[in-house]
Amino acid sequence: MKTIKILHMYADMLDLYGDSGNMEIIKYRCKMRGIECETDKYSVDSPMPDFSSYDLIYIGGGADLEQQHISADLLKCKDGIEKAYKNGTFLFLICGGYQLMGKYYRDADGNDIKGLGLFDYYTVAPTSRRKRCIGNIVVETEITGTPVKVVGFENHGGQTQEVKTPFGKVLYGNGNCSKSEAEGYTEKNVIATYLHGPMLSKNPEISDYMIEYCINREAETPEKLKPLNDKLENECRNVMLGRLLK
Ligand code: GLN
Repeated sequence: MKTIKILHMYADMLDLYGDSGNMEIIKYRCKMRGIECETDKYSVDSPMPDFSSYDLIYIGGGADLEQQHISADLLKCKDGIEKAYKNGTFLFLICGGYQLMGKYYRDADGNDIKGLGLFDYYTVAPTSRRKRCIGNIVVETEITGTPVKVVGFENHGGQTQEVKTPFGKVLYGNGNCSKSEAEGYTEKNVIATYLHGPMLSKNPEISDYMIEYCINREAETPEKLKPLNDKLENECRNVMLGRLLK
């Protein structure tokens, strides 16, 4: 079976609420199945990597200040990331990372942080810093082919608009905008979401969707992943679903 190659960008700057844990979870789920998984890190001023050599590129979330700090460097990576994405590399993006793949993020002071513009959405934070979408969230996604309830935690000022293909439907919480029906953005090889937690800890189907995608993206005969014992993960998720979806 092939080795999965992951590029984790700005782990030292964009890592809110344990977002880096998503990488630990993917590595663990690969290891349990005997799948080799290599992770490289990239941050501001690292040598320019060959983005297209990766199966998955991951960017976590961050406060406005960290987003500003990495913005110029991220723009230097635009061509490489765009080429990789068009070539089928999976983009997994959380919150601040999600926002910066759109056209722009306008922060509470009205400063625009330019995004890569890979996707048509844009994000505007309210001028009042008190108006944030904070709390637990449940989203129903169909990315795996069957409806899956995904549990996480959101904390963002940004209101993301013009999202053509959301990651899921909000069952509890806010989503892309305050009290919106839609959450995140998705394509076959993109999951962009506001969910922290880390997001994958209680949502094993989402990790496995990405692992399976990475294994099969260049394979002649697609393979199915061996199921793992997800009793603990599912119990944790069920506690949250029971509490939030009464
Ligand atoms: N700084 C952005 C906002 O407040 C993103 C926050 C985050 O990544 N959690 O909307």
